[in-house]
Amino acid sequence: MANTNRCDFCGKEIKEVKKIFSSEHAHICDECVTMCSNVLEKEIIHEAKKDFQKGLNVPVKIKEHLDEYVIGQNDAKKVLAVALYNHYKRIDKPTVKNVELEKSNIMLVGPTGSGKTLLAKSLARIMDVPFAVADATALTEAGYVGEDVESILSRLLAAADFDLEKAKRGIVYIDEIDKIANKSESSTSGRDVSGEGVQQGLLKILEGAEVYVPVKGSRKNSTAETVLFDTTHVLFICGGAFVGLRKDKNKEKAAVMGFVNGKEKEEVKKEIEPKELINFGLIPEFMGRIPVIAELDKLTREDMIRILKEPKNAITKQYEILFELDGVDLEFTDDALEEIAEIAIEKDVGARGLRGIIEKVMLPLQYTIPSEENLASCVITKSYIKKEEEVELVYQKPSTKKKDTKEILYDDIKN
Ligand code: ADP
Repeated sequence: MANTNRCDFCGKEIKEVKKIFSSEHAHICDECVTMCSNVLEKEIIHEAKKDFQKGLNVPVKIKEHLDEYVIGQNDAKKVLAVALYNHYKRIDKPTVKNVELEKSNIMLVGPTGSGKTLLAKSLARIMDVPFAVADATALTEAGYVGEDVESILSRLLAAADFDLEKAKRGIVYIDEIDKIANKSESSTSGRDVSGEGVQQGLLKILEGAEVYVPVKGSRKNSTAETVLFDTTHVLFICGGAFVGLRKDKNKEKAAVMGFVNGKEKEEVKKEIEPKELINFGLIPEFMGRIPVIAELDKLTREDMIRILKEPKNAITKQYEILFELDGVDLEFTDDALEEIAEIAIEKDVGARGLRGIIEKVMLPLQYTIPSEENLASCVITKSYIKKEEEVELVYQKPSTKKKDTKEILYDDIKN
């Protein structure tokens, strides 16, 4: 019967399509199934997006979304969630009862590779707004060689596909802000004037001002065109490691608490005061425009293991999918993940080292596995990572491949 079947939807014959699904009274081809499925999927995404945006505007929800991408850092997430909530409230209602709601730019303080950039990027993703990263050390005072502060806004504009209105509600992350602090205390050459100049340059865009921004990278605007960019609603998040800021504090605190309680150190962390960052070398006017300060913790071994497997786009999940496309089940044993975390901790660059370590481990396998026949699974163990043993491979029997039939019966699908 199969060969005379036609799709009841589009009328194509079985020989013109890849598959036909048949019940007693009707047939449908793979192309029509895909088409219908696309329609359904779009509807599901549309519904999900509507729900998402509806439920998003409370801090608890924002933190829940951050949890999908960022491991740990609970205190910082809560501070960020509240700041973001207020920020978008402020965009909707800049003045209420004649009280102007001030912008809540944010300072993230935490060791390298602890998730500062990731948090900023995730906030932008959650709010569905454009996002740009800038490196404070690349910025220079106006008139000097290097990037001027307006270039940050050019990048944001490019991230918004040159839609100025969208760019105006974007989020900018300025990394390595501690490197433009005045190192007057530590350096013998006196105040670091260039750093202070950059801080001065950033003041106006942090607070909200109209600046002329070059439109770079747009094909439509190949000439050096500029647009007037109002930064009032751009959220600025600055980040830095501020090495040395916490060291003495922790010692002090441990000593005090040890004395008071006479027992173990408690999990109470003293908040970082703007004054401390000013002492570090940020000028008071600059800190005055960054009212929110959040601190990130150094990641523990357990955090690293969770980072390897839990976030939505966790590295191990990505490799599992890559291998699945070659028809191979990939598995990392728990002790393999522990070993990777251990190596990353030794490198002392936070979670930033994890991807490099895994890539090195996986490269030889990615080279050989696609040409292996009948390979069913591949298990990455601690001994493999330590180069003590070969990787564990499991093969399937060659004859188990299912017969390729063109027609699939309704009864078979149901079961
Ligand atoms: P930094 O604090 O130096 O800005 P990043 O946010 O750039 O660090 O982190 C580098 C990479 O490490 C991220 O892209 C992410 O893959 C991983 N990472 C760092 N911290 C976390 C975290 N808390 N949760 C999940 N992944 C993290």
